[in-house]
Amino acid sequence: MTASEIRELLRWATADVISFGGGMPDPSTFPIEDIAKIVAYVLEAYPHKALQYGSTEGVLELRQEIAKFSESFRGIRARPENIIVTVGSQEALELLGRVFIDPGDVVITENPTYLAALQAWRVYQPRLVGVPMDEHGMVVEILEERVKQLKAEGARIKFIYTIPTAQNPSGLTMSQDRRKYLLEVAERFDLMIVEDDPYSYFLFEPIEVSPIKALDKNDRVIYLSTASKIFAPGFRLGWVIAKEDVVKWFNLAKQSLNLNTSNFVQYIFAEGLRRNVVLKNLPHVRDLYKRKRDAMLAALETYMPPGVSWTRPSGGMFIWVTAPPHIDTKELLKTAVTQYKVAFVPGHGFFVDQSVRNAMRLNFTYPSFEQINEGIRRLAMAIKGA
Ligand code: PMP
Repeated sequence: MTASEIRELLRWATADVISFGGGMPDPSTFPIEDIAKIVAYVLEAYPHKALQYGSTEGVLELRQEIAKFSESFRGIRARPENIIVTVGSQEALELLGRVFIDPGDVVITENPTYLAALQAWRVYQPRLVGVPMDEHGMVVEILEERVKQLKAEGARIKFIYTIPTAQNPSGLTMSQDRRKYLLEVAERFDLMIVEDDPYSYFLFEPIEVSPIKALDKNDRVIYLSTASKIFAPGFRLGWVIAKEDVVKWFNLAKQSLNLNTSNFVQYIFAEGLRRNVVLKNLPHVRDLYKRKRDAMLAALETYMPPGVSWTRPSGGMFIWVTAPPHIDTKELLKTAVTQYKVAFVPGHGFFVDQSVRNAMRLNFTYPSFEQINEGIRRLAMAIKGA
């Protein structure tokens, strides 16, 4: 394990620094009043169960609610036996490493991909293979070629990791055709897919895509999701939907990690789903984040010098910016934070091979509208000065 350089750099950030660095929701999206009522109810209705240790797979009532929610809202059919509740989806990423990865095993990911997934797995020493993306998501033609080569070399491919909807860090969404093609490749080469899906609940445009898990007839997809962006990240609650064998292995791996996800939190979220708090909250989340995304896109358009480009995310929390090739964004971050008082996450760590040095990830959900405009103005000055 290595300390994240980025965290070290961001520690320099003082109160006057505008940060596009983290990945935090806007706190106004937390359904605080509903949660207050639910907490009181849970303590009233079943305090003994809620405050007790629980089973490793999670509270049955919650797994039933997640099954209903996933079917009605995402078209994923699952029984409670197919679900394990985790401490955020970050724990599910750790469990994937624990259960599946031996040193030298191949894990295929989009390149760039979610930095903390790479960090979780590196401990288990996989060979990480990155597949480039275009505006329709992972380029599955290239994936297919890589898989062929790897199979010919005798590599053990453990899974293909994808964040198909509003990807972190790019904000891009994989087209429906690509999703089908990806599943076809997985079928042909007998591979598992890990679908990480924190963001599909609040897309900003009416894009017709279904989770890959909803297309999965043969239980190839291990689906991860989370309450972090649609309820509250402080609860640290996520879940995995997969075939029963996988759930059993995850259960075993989780027992020695933390025994169970907080029962109290699980009862709160179960009640939140039962009372439709999440569904009621989503229009606000979607509307606010769409406006914040648009504010950041407009500021980028206004202030950025020629040679800087960026993605137009269809959802999620991030815009991915590419600076001119002479700029190393890790170097840029130092001056950006100290002189210009603006912070971001350099792109390097999102690539399996750290191959791209001039990219950065900007979060648009946490900063205020004023901070978005002023922060992008400062960032543009930092880039012009580099
Ligand atoms: N996967 C992805 C793609 C994410 O963006 C995040 C949060 N930034 C996570 C997993 C982890 O989220 P949590 O543990 O809060 O569910």
